[in-house]
Amino acid sequence: MSLQTDKRDFSERTTDGLGDSFMRNAVGSAQDSLKTRRLSAATALGDWEQWRTAGQQIRQHTLQNLDYYLEQLAGNIEKKGGHIYFAATKEEASSYIRDVIVQKQAKKIVKSKSMVTEEIELNHVLIEAGCELIETDLGEYILQMDDWDPPSHIVAPALHKDRRQIQRVFTEKLDYTDDESPEKLARFARKVLRQKFLEAEVGITGCNFAVANLGAINLVTNEGNGDLTAAIPKTHIAVMGMERIVPTLAEMEVLDNLLCRSAVGQKLTSYITVMGPSAAGDTDGPEEFHLVVVDNGRSDILGSEFNEALQCIRCGACLNVCPVYRHIGGHAYGSIYPGPIGAVITPLLGGYDDYKELPFASSLCAACTDVCPVRIPLHEQLILHRQNIVKENRTGSMERFQMKAAGRLLSSPALFGKTLRFAHPASRLMSRHGRIVRGPELIHGWIGARDLSQPVKQQDSFRAWLDKRKGESGQ
Ligand code: SF4
Repeated sequence: MSLQTDKRDFSERTTDGLGDSFMRNAVGSAQDSLKTRRLSAATALGDWEQWRTAGQQIRQHTLQNLDYYLEQLAGNIEKKGGHIYFAATKEEASSYIRDVIVQKQAKKIVKSKSMVTEEIELNHVLIEAGCELIETDLGEYILQMDDWDPPSHIVAPALHKDRRQIQRVFTEKLDYTDDESPEKLARFARKVLRQKFLEAEVGITGCNFAVANLGAINLVTNEGNGDLTAAIPKTHIAVMGMERIVPTLAEMEVLDNLLCRSAVGQKLTSYITVMGPSAAGDTDGPEEFHLVVVDNGRSDILGSEFNEALQCIRCGACLNVCPVYRHIGGHAYGSIYPGPIGAVITPLLGGYDDYKELPFASSLCAACTDVCPVRIPLHEQLILHRQNIVKENRTGSMERFQMKAAGRLLSSPALFGKTLRFAHPASRLMSRHGRIVRGPELIHGWIGARDLSQPVKQQDSFRAWLDKRKGESGQ
C-alpha cells in the first residue's frame, strides 16, 4: 500500500461510495456509536476543554522545539544500545528497514497497525524482498487476507466490512469452517496469529508517541498484538512520523487520555505500553531495537501555514463526525488518510496534482474542528488548501467563470436584486413541481444527487417581504 490507494477519478470513487448502501450503513452506525462513546468518555474526564487546550499546547510546544526533542530522543536511544535512523524520504525509510531484515537473513515478519508504514510502502518493499509479512491487527489482518483491501478508517481499518464478509474471506483464504459469530472469527484469527508471532524473526510496529527524555516509544492498542509484535521476535523495528514525539511521560499521559477517549470512547485502551531498547539484565524483550523516524515531506509542513496539521494524534474523531465521510466512506478519498485530516494532509504529502479534489470534500461545517482533541482548525486548513488551489489555477475554466460571475453577483445588491426578478420566469422551462429538473451541464452534478428548488416569484421573495415590512413601519 502507498499513500494513494485508488488512482481512479475522485468523481468515480465518490459515485462508488454513494452507491454502496451496505458501506454507508456500516459507516453511519459506526460513527453514531463512536460519537456517543467519545462524548461520555470526554465528559467523564471533567473539564474536557481544558484537556484539549493542554493537548494543543503540548503538541505546539513539541513542534516548536522538534529538533531539540528529536536530538534528545536519538541520544537516549543510542545510550541504551538502540539504533535510530532519520529517513528523509519514504524510499530511505523502507530501504533501511529492508536492509536490517536482509542483513539478519530474516524471512518471517509480523507487523502491528501503523499508518506511516503504509505511507512508506513498506509491505510492498518487504514482500518484494521475499519476506512473509503478516499484519497482526485484526482489522488489518482481515484486509490483508482480502487481497490487501485498502483501509477505510485510520483507527478501524476494516470498518466497511461486516461479519459475513469476514467469514467469507476467512473461509476462502484460511479454510475457516465455522459460522459468522464475531467471537469465533476473532478466536480463529488469534490462533493463526499466535503461531505467526512465535515464528517471527522481526517485529515491526508503529509508534503513537516517542518519549524524548526516556529514549522510548509508547504503543496504544486494544488487542495486545502491538506488544507481542514488539516483544517476541528478536528484532523490533518501530516506525514513526517525525512529529509524533513528546518531551516526557507527563505529556504522554495527557495525550494518551485524549487519544483513547477520542478514538474509541475508552478511558484507556487495554494496552498502553512504553518500550525501547532492552536494558542489561532484562529477561525478555527483543535483543535489538531500531527506531525509524520518517520525514517524507513533514519538514516542508513544519513552520508553514499548515503547521497545525502536524499536531494530529491520529485519533480518528474527525472522521467520526464528518457528514461527507459518512456518505462517501473512506475509500473515496483514495488515500490511506481519509476524512477531514486526510483531506488536509494527503495533498501536503502527495501534492495537488493527485489530490486537489480532497479539500473540496467537505461541507465546512467545522464539526471536525469542534471535536479535534488537539484543536487543529481543520476546516480553516481546508479553506487554505482551496485558496491555494484557486491561486494556482488548478480549478477548471468553467468553474473559474462561474465563481467570477457569482462573485460579481453576490457583491452587488442592485445586480442581485435585478437577477432575482428574472430568476423565476427564466427557470420555468427547467422546473417541475417547484424543483429544477434539467438545465445546463454545470448544474447536472448538483441536481443529479440533490433537490434544487425553483427560485420563488419576485413578489414572494424575502426582499419583497422586507421592503413591504419597511414600508409598513415607515423606515
Ligand atoms: S485531526 Fe484531530 S480529530 Fe482528526 S485524527 Fe487528528 S487529532 Fe484526531
